[in-house]
Amino acid sequence: MPSAYENALKQIDKAAALTKVDSETLARIKSVNKIVQVEFPIVLDSGKTKIFQAYRVQHNNWRGPYKGGIRYHWNVDLDEVKALATWMTLKCAVLDLPMGGGKGGVIVDPRDCSKSELEKISRAFARAIVTDIGPEVDVPAPDVYTTPEIMGWIRDEYEKITSTSAPALITGKKVENGGSEGRDIATAQGGVHVLNEAVKKLKLNAKGLRVVIQGFGNAGGVMARLLFEQGYKIVGIADSKGAIYNPDGFEPKLVYSCKLEKGAVNNCSITLHEDNAKNTVHLSNEELLEQDCDILIPAALENQITGQNADRIKAKLIVELANGPTTTGADRILREKGIMVAPDILANAGGVTVSYFEWLQNKRDEKWSKEDVLQKLEEKMVAAFAAVYEKAQELDVDLRRAAGVLAIERLVKAMPKSA
Ligand code: GLU
Repeated sequence: MPSAYENALKQIDKAAALTKVDSETLARIKSVNKIVQVEFPIVLDSGKTKIFQAYRVQHNNWRGPYKGGIRYHWNVDLDEVKALATWMTLKCAVLDLPMGGGKGGVIVDPRDCSKSELEKISRAFARAIVTDIGPEVDVPAPDVYTTPEIMGWIRDEYEKITSTSAPALITGKKVENGGSEGRDIATAQGGVHVLNEAVKKLKLNAKGLRVVIQGFGNAGGVMARLLFEQGYKIVGIADSKGAIYNPDGFEPKLVYSCKLEKGAVNNCSITLHEDNAKNTVHLSNEELLEQDCDILIPAALENQITGQNADRIKAKLIVELANGPTTTGADRILREKGIMVAPDILANAGGVTVSYFEWLQNKRDEKWSKEDVLQKLEEKMVAAFAAVYEKAQELDVDLRRAAGVLAIERLVKAMPKSA
């Protein structure tokens, strides 16, 4: 598996080469401010005690408090969390949010945990990092396999220890616990705006465009539904256990109910019409990426499109709803093939954008309507796409490098003097 952090650094180098930034400033942009590494014991339901390992990485706070999710995943490691924190810094800068970049990760398979074990883990993690987080310091949020309920436990633990009321400590909370309307669909909805803008630039007719989505959780699952409602044809879906493909198209809601019932999308054949179900083919997650489609949406994990498979990608457009799904080696191949890539630090920024709105509402003691939040999200995403696209035209480079340039230029403006 290639190093995600090395990939992130290479992406920064490639963008920086197009700017006037000097090598010392570049080194400061690339460096990680702080790594918090903790271990804590949890008594499992079985009565056994297990030690869990977790991280909070604070990459950069020149533009505002560290901001970024907490991931619960069995493959979490420090390299990955550093990469994810770095991408958050760039992402917040591309969206022009007054926030920096951070990320957390706990090494755990949440699929094997009971609710009470998850609560103990979340509270223990909050206790372990309590002095490193805070509404003006570092503001966590959900990420892969973490939920609004988990955000609530972390908030509650923090407030107990600090004897404060601190709704702005963490975002992605339940609406009834200080969360924002629209946050639940924000990552997907932001991705839809970017996808629609890219489709316009490519002069494609949106109606009936064939979409393959890898990932069927809060990002990919919701995006599949939103795109289906807009008339896109969802021909391929994968979750962590496998994939299905059918050129006649799936109705994501039906696939979702089937997945709930049968445990994995790979156990489902269900499409729009019963008659078409026989055309459903069952594939591995990797095979799905290479199927015939117009738009490919990696919405799961890092390093999915690499030098090994990029040549076999058939899509005309890739919209990165996951963080870091494409390696720099793959980027080169995709560029040669003329495939447009809407990069993660733009395409999946809807989540952190509404997180920022949530943080603002909490600080100002306001409650914005869903309509208002989604309207503001659309404005932010469309403006960011336009700025990145314009930069790409100006420099004659792909959208990833252009987004990187934009982020670096904004970071340099906010850079404090060194000691
Ligand atoms: N985990 C999401 C991301 O990777 C959201 C972060 C946030 O809302 O702070 O962008």
